[in-house]
Amino acid sequence: MYKKWIFVLLLFLTIQEASAWGFWAHQRINRMAVFTLPPEMIVLYKKNIEYLTEHAVDPDKRRSAVEGEDACHFIDIDHYGTYPFVDFPRYWEEAVKIYTEDTLKAYGIVPFHIPVMMKRLTQAFKEKDVDRIMKLSTDLGHYVGDAHVPLHTTENYNGQMTNQKGIHGFWESRLPELYADKYNFYVGKAKYIEDILLEPWDAVLESHGALDSVLLFEKNLTDSFPTDKKYGFENRNGILVRTYSQDFSLAYHKMLSGMVERRMQRSISRVGSFWYTAWKNAGSPDLSDLVNQTPKEVKESYKRKLLIIDRETADVPAKGYRPCKVGSPYELRNPMSEEYFCCMSRHNSKSCRN
Ligand SMILES: [Zn+2]
Ligand SMILES: [Zn+2]
Repeated sequence: MYKKWIFVLLLFLTIQEASAWGFWAHQRINRMAVFTLPPEMIVLYKKNIEYLTEHAVDPDKRRSAVEGEDACHFIDIDHYGTYPFVDFPRYWEEAVKIYTEDTLKAYGIVPFHIPVMMKRLTQAFKEKDVDRIMKLSTDLGHYVGDAHVPLHTTENYNGQMTNQKGIHGFWESRLPELYADKYNFYVGKAKYIEDILLEPWDAVLESHGALDSVLLFEKNLTDSFPTDKKYGFENRNGILVRTYSQDFSLAYHKMLSGMVERRMQRSISRVGSFWYTAWKNAGSPDLSDLVNQTPKEVKESYKRKLLIIDRETADVPAKGYRPCKVGSPYELRNPMSEEYFCCMSRHNSKSCRN
């Protein structure tokens, strides 16, 4: 039993480290985007805020399982030229003519996929289909978030070409997890997006514009930092894991002077604006009568897909879920044995009991 449990935790860690933004950041982006919405929308989105939060990483979970999914999360834009890539077509049909669909998919299609999601979400609003509105809003929030990560816009996505392997998870997962508690996530109101085909490109180009600093600062810091202090070991679920040390992380975060925070803020603001624009383009349907419907996916996926519930992000307990004893903030489920564990920390299996 114990072995099985370790396997599950390893699986979780592997998934977590391979995902875009971190689990935490994607969840926070979707969650905070709700507060950018106008009152006519916030009634429905606030009601479903747990769904939007918990499912924010579903697209990453299906990356290896669903054909074609992986390409939706990034674009290696530097494969096609140099910033600002003026010769690269911003419209799918034109791009296909020049590069073929296979090539485009091989190097990622996130700015082309966002408008596809927008079309689907707009249709769902027109039909007032609450299941699809919530599912598509959640997924759209994920892809928009991904477009804001500098390392999602390059062939050198994990520093593998510049001897900086590991920088991907360092920038998008470790830094937000260490420092985002202090970030300001109040970004103002959602705005109507005039051109939904070009807006994703703005996000990609901003991200790519920041890429130089992401790589250069890490390199400069590595050159000036004591070699034996760059990495440290941290205990995760009773296993020692080698990771960027606290000191190195802090120094790098300082050099970036707010970049991670600004990219998260832009993500939140754009996610809210895309949701708002889809609703507007659907004719601003009245959503108040949908408030009492719970999206079907919620219950199903709690049973089927969800491996972890992070109670920190929840201001109400998830429905249909076995409550942990008071004082156990994390509930983890072993998907094979279906047993539940209550944990004091999701980084330490010794803190769990069932
Ligand atoms: Zn990523
Ligand atoms: Zn992703």
